[in-house]
Amino acid sequence: MATCPRCKGHLTESHVCPRRPLIVATEITAATVAGALVGLLLVSLFDQHGQGTDGEYAIAIGVGALIGFGIHRMMRG
Ligand SMILES: [Zn+2]
Repeated sequence: MATCPRCKGHLTESHVCPRRPLIVATEITAATVAGALVGLLLVSLFDQHGQGTDGEYAIAIGVGALIGFGIHRMMRG
């Protein structure tokens, strides 16, 4: 059985190197922050008169973060 040059695991047809927890954590953080930024961007687009409350912004950021986290989970299974 050949071994993988990167992780030294058995190199089967469907071999995928184990992902390092630090990289996974970084990805989740990036996806969550990206989602939060999109939420913030969307609420500021709809709130051109600056009438949105802090609570509304917080909800948009929170929902965006959850969506970013969810998308990451879907892509990674
Ligand atoms: Zn490998």
